[in-house]
Amino acid sequence: MKLNEDQLTLQKWVHGFAEDVMRPAGEEWDEKEEFPYPIVEQAREIGLYGWEFMAEAMFNDPTGLSMPIAIEELFWGDAGLGMAIMGSGLAAAGIASSATPEQLMEWVPQCYENADTGKLALGAFCASEPDAGSDVGGYRTSAVYDEKTDEWVINGTKAWITNGGISDIHVVVAVVEPSLGTKGHASFIVPPNTKGLSQGQKYKKHGIRASHTAEVVLDNVRVPGRCLLGGKDKLDERIARVKRGEKGNSQAAMQTFEATRPAVGAQALGVARAAFEYSLEYAKEREAFGRKIIMNQSIAFMLADMATEIEASRGLIYRAAWLGKNGTFEKSEGSMAKLKAARTATWVTERAIQILGGYGYTREYPVERWHRDAKIHDIFEGTEQIQQLVIARTISGLRIE
Ligand SMILES: Cc1cc2nc3c(=O)[nH]c(=O)nc-3n(C[C@H](O)[C@H](O)[C@H](O)COP(=O)(O)OP(=O)(O)OC[C@H]3O[C@@H](n4cnc5c(N)ncnc54)[C@H](O)[C@@H]3O)c2cc1C
Repeated sequence: MKLNEDQLTLQKWVHGFAEDVMRPAGEEWDEKEEFPYPIVEQAREIGLYGWEFMAEAMFNDPTGLSMPIAIEELFWGDAGLGMAIMGSGLAAAGIASSATPEQLMEWVPQCYENADTGKLALGAFCASEPDAGSDVGGYRTSAVYDEKTDEWVINGTKAWITNGGISDIHVVVAVVEPSLGTKGHASFIVPPNTKGLSQGQKYKKHGIRASHTAEVVLDNVRVPGRCLLGGKDKLDERIARVKRGEKGNSQAAMQTFEATRPAVGAQALGVARAAFEYSLEYAKEREAFGRKIIMNQSIAFMLADMATEIEASRGLIYRAAWLGKNGTFEKSEGSMAKLKAARTATWVTERAIQILGGYGYTREYPVERWHRDAKIHDIFEGTEQIQQLVIARTISGLRIE
């Protein structure tokens, strides 16, 4: 499991940016609770934010490890800023999961750079709704085809959307055939400056506060027929197949989440490692009862457990990333990796506060921020319980509810 030369170079390069640019800026942007455009611009200038980087990391490494390696370093730097840099990737993955090659080439680059101005652009993947997060069968946003104009008309409200309302490209999952549940969903591109799309409330969050999260309101949004990902013929075929009782492909949102789970695990891993390293150094310096606190087994063993959980998480993430590229998931290894790494991050960052004592509980030290940042990984891209559900169903072969 030794990383090769290319992977080590990538790791060092991203780590340099995380250490020099992200670490010093993390606290400020957490306090501001605003989208950190200057930091994302800097990432873009060095080629870390952009379609080319994503394509290189996703497609040119046959081991599948480049993406988790880069993401771990970014989130080691700062999770809120890391999410601001990686958020558009969710839209890109949403497009890649169901687009035709032509659609992929047209829309994915526009998630990073405005096609007309050449300026920085953002992308958003809009699946969750106010009344349906885990329960994807409960989506109400509808898309109706207008034959006369060859346009789709989209109506609904999306909730909790990363980069929602501030993006150039919104990828929207909508119901086109309500009678078919999740198999009646389709994904649409809403191009820049489309009338009827607006930002609803911006959420005030517990952590990753530099990342923008908001509602997206779609009020009679009309998009050209070519904005249906995969195309109408394919959609009609799928709907006809499902109506005949034959197997239909799993719907777009689920495919997106499956592909991105090891990467989300890597985000959590980066936060956990940051907190572990910081608390290890602190424990070697801080004295109580006339000795360094690490000389107490209760502190040293806590650190030993933290290190072990981090290594275990990385092992699962690397394996899931490799399987995603070279094989097929057999036991929901992607979900296992995400579940384990998220729990590890929440636990390790809480233990880090414990090791720092009163100082750990203040905003003078970064561990309280890392604890707030870690928690999101138990929630988004499938909650802890949804990962357990996916794994339980796979290992049992039963429809566990
Ligand atoms: C900061 C942030 C960013 C996000 N970014 C995006 C984004 O870019 N795009 C997007 O589409 N969504 C995004 N989300 C939404 C996120 O994916 C959802 O919040 C998540 O899927 C959970 O949905 P929910 O909040 O509606 O909770 P619910 O589904 O209502 O769940 C509430 C609780 O019930 C549990 N639960 C629900 N169903 C079951 C079950 N069957 N069995 C056992 N337990 C169950 C859950 O585990 C959870 O503990 C984001 C959320 C946040 C907070």
